Amino acid sequence: MVGYLKVVEAAIGVETAWGVHVTGVERRGDGSTLHLSTSVGEVQTRNIVCATGAAAYPRLPKWSTALSVPGVAIHSSSYQYPRQIPTRDVLVIGGGNSGLQIARELAGSHAVTLAARTRRAHRPLVSYPSAAGRHRPLFGGELRPEPVFGDSYERLQQAGVRMAPAVTHARGGAVTFADGTTASPGSVIFATGYLPGDDWFPDEARIRGPRRTTTPLPGLFVAGFPQYSRRGVDTIAGVSADAAAIAHHIINRP
Ligand SMILES: Cc1cc2nc3c(=O)[nH]c(=O)nc-3n(C[C@H](O)[C@H](O)[C@H](O)COP(=O)(O)OP(=O)(O)OC[C@H]3O[C@@H](n4cnc5c(N)ncnc54)[C@H](O)[C@@H]3O)c2cc1C
Repeated sequence: MVGYLKVVEAAIGVETAWGVHVTGVERRGDGSTLHLSTSVGEVQTRNIVCATGAAAYPRLPKWSTALSVPGVAIHSSSYQYPRQIPTRDVLVIGGGNSGLQIARELAGSHAVTLAARTRRAHRPLVSYPSAAGRHRPLFGGELRPEPVFGDSYERLQQAGVRMAPAVTHARGGAVTFADGTTASPGSVIFATGYLPGDDWFPDEARIRGPRRTTTPLPGLFVAGFPQYSRRGVDTIAGVSADAAAIAHHIINRP
């Protein structure tokens, strides 16, 4: 990745300012200049492209702080290998791709329970990333969650993983599942997803529906966030559609 960035810098002549944290953006008065607040001072510019990531921060359920287990309780972003889990049994919370992959890996060495709220559609690995992201069914209706790729709940059960309903709350060492049953897991892995990196946007820049990379703040564009664009743009293959749309918007701005 570092090599790739160096090639890009050399090819298009951009200079990277490393270690700079963006904290806010505002438009003062009716002017066309945006004021970007950063950890090293303010930058004034007409156009800003936000690419701070659709999966920037671990998302943890509120009740996670009330849980205290003998082993470890970690988010999936901190999971690296089975030896990190010191107890024999482990509860993986979240039936998405991270939860399935971690449960699959741990099934070889641990007694694994996978708690899943929604049963997701299964897709072959080769259909990633074209089938990635949440999508609306062909004839309308509720948004469906991202499918799981290359594995299935049934195959995990054949490998010894026990399936459980969603966890609704926790207290001390016990978790309660949606069907009212409880368990006292040795360790817990929260495969409960991520929050987007638009936390530094003012309220006026947030949107309530896809706007193809634009925001209500003229000159502020967003790349790689499905909620500001369309499904699949939060993948390496999909983000180029956002990049092309943003270049088009900027070139055509008055
Ligand atoms: C578990 C997991 C597995 C995935 N696997 C795949 C995969 O196999 N294939 C695929 O195509 N995609 C995958 N994705 C999606 C993947 O995240 C994206 O494809 C890719 O990383 C998005 O790149 P990005 O540059 O938009 O965001 P990121 O890679 O998240 O980069 C955002 C950058 O912005 C920085 N940043 C955040 N906030 C600020 C701030 N306030 N100020 C300054 N800098 C900031 C961050 O430090 C980071 O460097 C996966 C995602 C997850 C969570």
